[in-house]
Amino acid sequence: MSSCTWVCLLFNLCTLLSSYPALSDPFLGEKGLTEIPSKFLNLAKRPELFEYMVRIRRSLHENPELGYEEFETSRLIRNELDGMGIPYKHPIAVTGIVGYIGTGNPPFVAIRADMDALAMQEAVEWEHKSKVPGKMHACGHDAHVAMLLGAAKMLQEHRSDLEGTVILVFQPAEEGGGGAKKMRDAGILENVNAIFGFHVSSSYPVGTVATRAGPVMAASGFFEAKISGKGGHAAIPQHTIDPILASSNIIVSLQHLVSREADPLDSQVVTIAKFQGGHAFNVIPDSVTIAGTFRAFSQESFMQLKHRIEEVITLQASVQRCNASVNFYADEKPFYPVTVNDKDLHKHFQKIAGHMLGDENVKEVQPLMGAEDFSFFAEAIPGYFYYIGMVDETEGRIAPGHSPYFKVNEDALPYGAALHASLAATYLLEHPPPIATQKLSSHDEL
Ligand SMILES: [Zn+2]
Ligand SMILES: [Zn+2]
Repeated sequence: MSSCTWVCLLFNLCTLLSSYPALSDPFLGEKGLTEIPSKFLNLAKRPELFEYMVRIRRSLHENPELGYEEFETSRLIRNELDGMGIPYKHPIAVTGIVGYIGTGNPPFVAIRADMDALAMQEAVEWEHKSKVPGKMHACGHDAHVAMLLGAAKMLQEHRSDLEGTVILVFQPAEEGGGGAKKMRDAGILENVNAIFGFHVSSSYPVGTVATRAGPVMAASGFFEAKISGKGGHAAIPQHTIDPILASSNIIVSLQHLVSREADPLDSQVVTIAKFQGGHAFNVIPDSVTIAGTFRAFSQESFMQLKHRIEEVITLQASVQRCNASVNFYADEKPFYPVTVNDKDLHKHFQKIAGHMLGDENVKEVQPLMGAEDFSFFAEAIPGYFYYIGMVDETEGRIAPGHSPYFKVNEDALPYGAALHASLAATYLLEHPPPIATQKLSSHDEL
């Protein structure tokens, strides 16, 4: 072979290499940081990825499972991760899964989806209606799983460009079961620097997001009380101790906690949502059960409310010669902390979402008295929670979450997947680990 042939071969090889974008222009290169969000959005809108997410979401929608019973949901996710070649740990908190994409070394950043459905009958008539009577994905968690898998696919495709490790968190039992607390207590956040999560929203248009820095959702707790008196003939009340009247007074007194004892500028709620007692027109029952929820935006106000709810119920019952016991179900329904968005992650989110959607489409929300168990993650490490708009303005209002008429607008799926992927990948690029800690902590799953 002549020297000319060698030169030509070398030249051809160089030409080939320089025309191959993955080698000369990494997808997640730090120089192109401002372009990464729109690159991911374009990837997520590709028909094959969009249709993949739609297929996953519809399959989950047809087979809803309640908290800590997401066995088939969890199996589907693991099959998908296996297919993508993504290693994971399972089971965590019964059905939970944690997957790993990237170097296996710091920094670590987590993105999260919840998996559970609600115990309610779907009223929407469509091809992929729930096949399980009395159970429905009426909060959009089917879409959350589909979007996290969509993000996983994109990140795995570009894993060699990741400067650290993305942790995929699929958690059970968001709807009151505190699945996030169980995942956190199992140690999944060890060495993790930050976590991002979102919820689909029926309040904002597709292509917009909404959030705020600081407290975004309230702390939440539940309680139930049994008020016991002495039943008897409704026409001879002097021989009874009437728990209906005592419970009515208790409910009125409970409403004074927020209106008379709380700072009007410190939002709080006490709601009695259940009142059960008696079964006849002319019989005073032995006992009444009441139950409800309380919300606040600081731990201090929350614990003060809890203390006063117990005190008011037991003391007000005794005013009317009844006995009362109060149960806060702290084991089965753990108190949810306030969901607080980290201020530095807020800046990161605004920048990345702004690059992807335009600054005018990154909206500010008012704090909500609703609660979200993402708060357990954000209590342990810097966390950030936001809403993904899914209103199609040509179709009018969408029924809100927990309605039997709730519908997910699947056009929102690419936005959630792209935001998950962009926030995590750019976070890693912007947070190189201190040299000294690089070898100290690692996840050995990879
Ligand atoms: Zn919900
Ligand atoms: Zn939800």
